[in-house]
Amino acid sequence: MEKNEKYPLDVFFKKMERIGLALSYGDVREKTGYSEILPGDVNLQTRFSRNVPLNIPIVSSPMDTVTEFEMAIEMAKLGGLGIIHKALTPFDQAMEIARVKHHLNAFIQAPVCVFADDTVEAVMKMKAEKLYKFFSFPVLDRASGQVIGIVSSSDFDFCSNVQDEISLIMSKNIEKFSVVSNKKVSVSAAYEKMMSNGKKILPVFDKLGAFRGIYTLSDVKRIMNGDFKDYNLDSSGNLRVGAAVGVGADLEERLRQISREKVDVLVIDSAHGDSKSVFEVVKFCKKNYPEIDVVAGNISEGDAAKRLVQLGVDGLRVGQGPGSICTTRIVAGIGCPQVTAIYNCARAVRGSDVPVCGDGGIEYSGDVTIALAAGAANVMLGKVLAGTKEAPGMSFVEHGVTKKFYRGMGSLGAMMANKASRERYGQGDAQISKLVPEGVDGSVEYKGEVADIVFQFLGGLKSGFGYVGAKDLPTLHKTAEFYRITGSGLRESHPHGLSGFKSAPNY
Ligand code: 5GP
Repeated sequence: MEKNEKYPLDVFFKKMERIGLALSYGDVREKTGYSEILPGDVNLQTRFSRNVPLNIPIVSSPMDTVTEFEMAIEMAKLGGLGIIHKALTPFDQAMEIARVKHHLNAFIQAPVCVFADDTVEAVMKMKAEKLYKFFSFPVLDRASGQVIGIVSSSDFDFCSNVQDEISLIMSKNIEKFSVVSNKKVSVSAAYEKMMSNGKKILPVFDKLGAFRGIYTLSDVKRIMNGDFKDYNLDSSGNLRVGAAVGVGADLEERLRQISREKVDVLVIDSAHGDSKSVFEVVKFCKKNYPEIDVVAGNISEGDAAKRLVQLGVDGLRVGQGPGSICTTRIVAGIGCPQVTAIYNCARAVRGSDVPVCGDGGIEYSGDVTIALAAGAANVMLGKVLAGTKEAPGMSFVEHGVTKKFYRGMGSLGAMMANKASRERYGQGDAQISKLVPEGVDGSVEYKGEVADIVFQFLGGLKSGFGYVGAKDLPTLHKTAEFYRITGSGLRESHPHGLSGFKSAPNY
């Protein structure tokens, strides 16, 4: 954004400020404008931080029920970004990052395996329960733990008795169907070997016979086809990924481990970013890891944004208490409704080249349009992405509905489970019985694949850009105008007066 340029929203928010009114997503709608823009023409490219671009303005939140490696892989493939949460040991967090970074090698280091004496029925049940889409597995001998065969989809297709053991349908001649190498096996070599073997899976062993991992044909083919124009890739062609770090004692060890895995951006994950402890972490990261971008937060005031930018941060995370699982505003009585918070922070650092992330409180795709119009460069999602296949944790059935857990990192459950969560809320050294939570433990309905959720969000967002007549984010920032709406305006905006309606994929 240009530093001193006046935007139409400046006039609107000046008026609101004069009467001390702060607004949230339900309080405003954007004005429509003359448009030559069709949703398909909209360019959603933006940034999470100075040097970390995004092809879509969506980032997944560093929460233990939202972002581990599977979510981060999918988010980067969709063009966004996942931030691995910090309620993990430094080593485990580094491993999560490594799994994202190695994903496009198509080499899976810790694949799901089955046992030779498992029945076909048991494997099919496990696959259905765990919602795995793939049907290729290395087969282990239960006694020795050694890989003794492989099975893939065609073996299952030709099986006529589900009580058969896997050993009856697997390909046994493992030497023929695998490669032995101590070095990296190239994707093209893996492809050729699988094509000549006629198998969809290729185990790799080292020269001492230890199992190193597998290639699968579908991943390898995708790479051979160069099918990733929308992916968010780093300069080495690997998926981008971020990591949350805190103000705790393990910071130095954590930074050592995750920087080794080439993490793209550090998110200093604190409930109060405008604080001495966060400032110290920013300075430490900038001094010792100048090559890695630092996003700091959370904040909701313009002065806080200015202080962090003066300190040299590369991105700002805005939102104190808007999240679906947050109780901070109720418990502590602080905070600024999210649309005003985003505007105030973005306005304060206009012209600084530091992007603002609108974190928390997003319910519908239209909220994303509003967050971006208010000045955000991207939004961070928790609840919207929780409950998807890629979110950590198993699904469970409650009253006939399939669900997944979703909890605040300041909930009692998360705080009791890990120190990093206690530190986020300044209670790192508190006794478990004396914790004061600032979030709740809950659950959301199981939602299927994250790609389908993001697809709907991008559709709504592009439609919003089209109504306003903005072809890209800089244009939206410069032209957006808001109406302040009332309770009846909001009621009118939602479906109303029906005796019932079918749920839509985006509502
Ligand atoms: P959601 O997208 O679910 O509305 O909000 C997610 C955001 O809420 C996270 O990115 C994070 O900033 C914030 N958050 C996560 N856990 C807690 C919590 O326990 N308490 C508070 N106050 N905020 C939380």
